[in-house]
Amino acid sequence: MHYGLDEDQELFRREVAAFAAKELAPHYQSDDRAARMRPELPRQLAGVGLTGLRIPERFGGQAADAVTTGLAAEEVSKADVNACYLLLVAALNSDILVGNASEEQLARWLPSIADGSTVSALVLTEPGHGSDAANLALRAVPDGAGWRLVGEKTSISTGMVADTGVVFARTGGPGARGVSAFYVDLHDGRVARTPLDDHGGRAIGRASLHFDGVPVSRDELVGAEGAGFVSVMQGFDYSRAVIGLMCVGVAEAALEDALEYARTREAFGRPIGTHQGVAFPLVEQATRLAAARHLCYEALWRKDQGLEHSVAANMAKWFAPKTAGEVVHQALLTFGHAGWGTDSPLGQRLRDVMAFEIADGTAQVAKLVVARHLLGRGFAP
Ligand SMILES: Cc1cc2nc3c(=O)[nH]c(=O)nc-3n(C[C@H](O)[C@H](O)[C@H](O)COP(=O)(O)OP(=O)(O)OC[C@H]3O[C@@H](n4cnc5c(N)ncnc54)[C@H](O)[C@@H]3O)c2cc1C
Repeated sequence: MHYGLDEDQELFRREVAAFAAKELAPHYQSDDRAARMRPELPRQLAGVGLTGLRIPERFGGQAADAVTTGLAAEEVSKADVNACYLLLVAALNSDILVGNASEEQLARWLPSIADGSTVSALVLTEPGHGSDAANLALRAVPDGAGWRLVGEKTSISTGMVADTGVVFARTGGPGARGVSAFYVDLHDGRVARTPLDDHGGRAIGRASLHFDGVPVSRDELVGAEGAGFVSVMQGFDYSRAVIGLMCVGVAEAALEDALEYARTREAFGRPIGTHQGVAFPLVEQATRLAAARHLCYEALWRKDQGLEHSVAANMAKWFAPKTAGEVVHQALLTFGHAGWGTDSPLGQRLRDVMAFEIADGTAQVAKLVVARHLLGRGFAP
């Protein structure tokens, strides 16, 4: 068993960490307060290759493996987990497109995602269908040789700023087989956007999108008609582990802060870290965090090896956000009153990681996937 990063991965990890500490960390709290995504952010990330990680080199990307993508997500998220949404959605959409679109479509769509001139959103959830996405209602109504998109999507990360979206729409009958995916220009005047006012992830511009007869042709159809749902589910198997590492990154930053505070803050005449009541909870959280991190990387490593990775990725999806929340909570308590003010990033970190207990599939949905594997389909809830 070989366990560890190779030289290239370690070098890349250090480069991303240095970029994130210098360019992203200083804006983490101010972007949250302003509830906005800085317009220069996509190009900044693209400048160091972070929006093209899963894009083949011939389309301007890095063709990075899944583990390397996870490393980038972890390091970026230590500094600014909200900036990492851009990395995440670019990687997820790239995987969906590369796995399903034609070479001609990829040449049209991928280079601008890689160079940061296009922000693409993943547009699946609807007001009436979240976990039950296979039953989504937004219709692609036949219109000449193409369709018109009619209906509403909600809870779309980067929805306020995205230029394009992989939009899932019903082209056929009920259920998963009636769902197709389209790559859609969201600047069409028939797309209306409404911002959502969130507890966490406030800088990502989560939004509702209303489609009022947006025209799409076969040129925008991703893969075969009726194959859209399968393509997004395959993408989720991968993105769920990346999300796990985003949460791990936030928690690692919080834990580092708490350990440093435990070394320097004094109470009863000695550093608080010398009190077991302070040190042991941090040790317990560090242990859980290490377990969550290993699980995420196992899922990504398995994907890179071409092995089944859905079980580990879905275990990671429920375990990592919950664990990260507990770690940040403990870190905040370690700071006492100094952690409670909004000048400390810890409260924001708590809000930001909690979003991932819902985003990209809730804990219950991840557990359903794992239960099917453990119990067998006929016995699972
Ligand atoms: C920060 C954030 C970012 C997001 N970004 C995107 C995005 O970019 N694109 C996008 O398309 N969507 C996005 N979402 C939406 C997200 O994917 C959905 O919120 C999620 O899939 C859950 O759907 P729902 O909110 O409609 O909850 P529901 O499906 O209504 O579920 C409500 C509750 O019931 C539980 N539940 C439902 N069914 C079952 C069951 N069978 N067994 C047990 N429990 C069940 C759920 O776990 C949940 O607790 C985002 C959400 C958040 C919070």
